[in-house]
Amino acid sequence: MQKMRRQFASDNYSGMCPEAFDALVQANIGHSIPYGDDEYTARACDMLRDFFETDCEVFFVFNGTAANSLALACLCQSYHSIICHRYAHIETDECGAPEFFSNGTKILLAEGEHGKLSPREVEEVAGKRTDIHYPKPRVVSITQATEVGTVYSADELRELGGLAKRLGLRFHMDGARLANALAALTAAPRDITWKAGVDVLCFGGVKNGIAAGEAVVFFNRQLAFEFDYRCKQAGQLASKMRFLSAPWTGLLSAGTWLKNATHANNCARQLHEGLRGIQGLRVMFPVQANSVFVEMPKAMIDGLHDRGWRFYTFIGEGGVRLMCSWDTTDQDIDDFLGDVRTLARTI
Ligand SMILES: *Cc1c(COP(=O)(O)O)cnc(C)c1O
Repeated sequence: MQKMRRQFASDNYSGMCPEAFDALVQANIGHSIPYGDDEYTARACDMLRDFFETDCEVFFVFNGTAANSLALACLCQSYHSIICHRYAHIETDECGAPEFFSNGTKILLAEGEHGKLSPREVEEVAGKRTDIHYPKPRVVSITQATEVGTVYSADELRELGGLAKRLGLRFHMDGARLANALAALTAAPRDITWKAGVDVLCFGGVKNGIAAGEAVVFFNRQLAFEFDYRCKQAGQLASKMRFLSAPWTGLLSAGTWLKNATHANNCARQLHEGLRGIQGLRVMFPVQANSVFVEMPKAMIDGLHDRGWRFYTFIGEGGVRLMCSWDTTDQDIDDFLGDVRTLARTI
C-alpha cells in the first residue's frame, strides 16, 4: 500500500510510538479479566497516581470527546452552565456532546488573549446573572495546552483555580495536550493540576503516541461517584480494557511521554523559526507547545495543497494550523519549508 507522507495537519495523523506499541503487544499475550479488572489497567492507574503524586480516581474511555463530555456531565446538573473559552474544543469540536451527555447543561463562552481564559472574563460571565431564569454557572473549563498552541503558566492556573473556588465553580481541564504543556513549562504534573485547584482532568494520550484511550482523572474523588455507570451507559466501557490502558504504561515508563512531547514542541519551534523569516506570512500566536498558526496568502495555501500538504484552516481564528508529532523529522520540516519558500518566490 502507498504510504502517505508525514503531515502537519494534526498530531493524530501519527501512529503509536514504539514504547506504547510494545506495551500493547505484551498485553496481547494470553488472557486477562475484561472490563478494567485486569493487571494492565491497575498498573496504568497506579502509574498515573504516581505521576500526579496523589490518590486520584482514574478511568479510561475511548476518546477525548467522551472524556470531556462525561467528566463535565459529572460536575453539573442539567440546569447548570459551563464557562469556557470561545475556542474551546468542548464548544467547537464535540458536536454538542457535553450538552448531550449532561442532558442540556449550557456552555457559556468567554474571551481571553491567545486562547486562554482571562480571570476577569470568567468573573464577568459568572456574575452576569444570578436570577432563577438563567442557567447557573457551575464549572470553569480550560484547555491545557490551548487549542491555539499556547500554554497557561502555573501562576495563571492557580489564579483561575482560586477564582473558581471563590465563585463556587468546579474546575475542569481538557488536557488533550497536557504532556506538551508539561514539557513547555518543565513543571511538576501536580503543580499545574490538582495543586492549582483542578477537580477533573481529561488527560490525552492519543496525541502523545497511543492509538486510543484517554484518561479521566478525578483529583476530587467524590466527583467520581458512579462515573463507572456513566461510562458504561455512554458506551465507553471497553470490554478489553487492557488495550486502552496498557499503552499508557508505555507512555508513563522511562519518561516516554516527556520525550515525545518535548520532541513535538521542539519541532514546532523549528518550524516557527523557518516560517517567520519568510515574506508574506504572519505567525498568529506565541508558539509554546507543538503547533504553529500562520496566516498565508490563498495562492500559497493552494500551492501547498497541490504539493500534497494537508492542514486545517478552520481552528481558532482561522489561518493555517501546523501541528508537530512525536515522529516529525527534520526532513519533514525542511521539505515543508522548502515548498513554502519556493511558493513565496513565485506568488
Ligand atoms: C484532540 C482533542 C480532543 C479529543 O478529541 P477526540 O477526537 O474526541 O479524541 C479534546 N480536546 C482538544 C483540545 C483536542 O485537541
